Amino acid sequence: MKFKKSEKFTESSGSMNSVVQWFVEGYNGSALMIKVKEILFEKKGLQHIQIFETESFGKMLVLDGKIQLTERDEVMYHEMLVHVPLFMIDGPSKILVIGGGDGGSVREILKHEPDEVIMVEIDREVVEACQMHIGIDGGALKDNRVTVLFEDGIEFVRTSKEKFDVIIVDGTDPNPVSKNLIAEEFYRYCSKIANLFATQSQSPFVQDQYFIELIQNAQRGFNFYSVYINYVPTYPLGLWSYLLASNSELNPNYDEIKRRWEERNIETKHYNPELHMASFALPQWLKRRLGEI
Ligand code: SAM
Repeated sequence: MKFKKSEKFTESSGSMNSVVQWFVEGYNGSALMIKVKEILFEKKGLQHIQIFETESFGKMLVLDGKIQLTERDEVMYHEMLVHVPLFMIDGPSKILVIGGGDGGSVREILKHEPDEVIMVEIDREVVEACQMHIGIDGGALKDNRVTVLFEDGIEFVRTSKEKFDVIIVDGTDPNPVSKNLIAEEFYRYCSKIANLFATQSQSPFVQDQYFIELIQNAQRGFNFYSVYINYVPTYPLGLWSYLLASNSELNPNYDEIKRRWEERNIETKHYNPELHMASFALPQWLKRRLGEI
């Protein structure tokens, strides 16, 4: 790609070029550039929160220099994070979400008509900024089945006396506050209060070390796990992974998933039962990498 003189940029993580408004997220010698029309919100607190209006991806949330969502492709991320675990079981009724301050995960969970959703988010300012400037939750965080608590997810699961059908972790890309969400104890606490667990597990291609550490620690907390993958264009180089873990065997069964999909009759833009099954088919290099653990 050629850049006009005024569009030259230097690679750095989460920087704004001052001549032409490009947001640049760099990863190990490569980068994604998104053209920005306007900065809607910026605040440095527990995390550095930025919300942009972009030229072709709609509104975009960035935390500590890393893209968390864009309006255009967030469904690809949220639908696969939520519907894969929830279609694995009959009647999911009590769900815990850790992180997920933008509300996209809770929005998808409510489509399954649960009785109760608890969302534990460490950073109140992310929730407030997203409610004010993005609103992808579509009112889900104000639903009367939903409780939003502000505390560190690891503390909540360490002290929780409640049990959940499913725990879904929608945490920030690696940063100081999300570190606890890949700690060995975190998975141990989660496995005591839920039999089914799902988390986003970053890019196994770009963030190999983080991905492997997450899988190793999850293995110490749960007896069984499966990795599944998906495409999210604005995440590092597009390939994204998720981890499903449980203390019972995980065998996605197409007929059962299709039956639940038909019974629940939910509307999606990205997820469907065929994609559910296909997302567990891993390329040879990734199978090999997991085999080395
Ligand atoms: N979809 C995103 C991604 O993978 O890039 C994640 C977006 S969501 C906004 C991530 C949320 O996790 C943030 O709002 C952040 O504050 C929250 N979070 C990070 N660490 C946390 C922790 N230890 N406990 C609870 N919430 C946490």
